[in-house]
Amino acid sequence: MALRPRQCRAEVIAVRSLTPDVIEVELRMVEPEALEFEAGQWVSVPFGPKNVRAYSLASSPTRRHVITFSVDVSPGGMGSEWVRGLRPGDPVQFKGPAGGFVVTRADPRRALFVAEEIGIVPIRSILTDLYETGYGRPSALIFWARDPSWLVYDAEFRSLARRYPSFSYFPAVREAPAGWRGEKGEAHEVVDRLVHSVDRLLVYVCGGEATIKQVREVLVRKGMDRKSVRWEKFW
Ligand SMILES: Cc1cc2nc3c(=O)[nH]c(=O)nc-3n(C[C@H](O)[C@H](O)[C@H](O)COP(=O)(O)OP(=O)(O)OC[C@H]3O[C@@H](n4cnc5c(N)ncnc54)[C@H](O)[C@@H]3O)c2cc1C
Repeated sequence: MALRPRQCRAEVIAVRSLTPDVIEVELRMVEPEALEFEAGQWVSVPFGPKNVRAYSLASSPTRRHVITFSVDVSPGGMGSEWVRGLRPGDPVQFKGPAGGFVVTRADPRRALFVAEEIGIVPIRSILTDLYETGYGRPSALIFWARDPSWLVYDAEFRSLARRYPSFSYFPAVREAPAGWRGEKGEAHEVVDRLVHSVDRLLVYVCGGEATIKQVREVLVRKGMDRKSVRWEKFW
């Protein structure tokens, strides 16, 4: 049964810069004491009566007392400025959980995740949750960024791929430094190169609208049904 969004209160317990532009915020839940959500869902933080910003949960639902946001503050708007100003002890109010970018475990199709930069956030939650709770089926992640410094959580995905042979990880960048051993090009070009068959495939894409559309077009050209491409648009 879908979880109903509710008003929540939490307190910042840690703030950490993952890169100069990506800030990770850990929050201890206050009300309720534990947040029930599905991996891939998001919450909305209010900024006045008509303004909200959505943040996906980067942490896994197996951890319900402490949740994590991971935010690219380079857009520089009110949400970014708010996150830049957060300090341990600050109270945070939000409404959630919401959203349907979630995995149906019973679905027998192979899952391919495609993330554009900070679009990795809900996918990190999903992958952590799936593998922590004994998901045995094959899945793959194509994680694209302009350059390797934007591949946040890259070490975690490399470690996941080493521990779980059924999980394949393909980091991809537009600007590859000397010695780069991953994929090169734009996200949709990498998808085009790596996806040989769309048979029994289910794709989850998260990032900007342009990338979502390009990835979907590549897959549809390979014969994929549009409904088998699920997406979450961050910008
Ligand atoms: C369901 C959902 C979940 C989201 N989860 C996250 C999350 O976990 N982490 C996160 O960092 N953001 C997330 N976002 C985006 C977030 O809600 C804000 O839109 C974003 O942080 C910009 O807010 P802002 O107030 O700083 O800038 P704004 O003034 O709102 O935006 C400035 C401009 O930047 C564009 N933009 C926004 N984000 C990006 C980006 N990352 N790269 C390039 N351009 C961008 C906007 O379209 C706009 O044109 C999510 C959005 C949605 C809809």
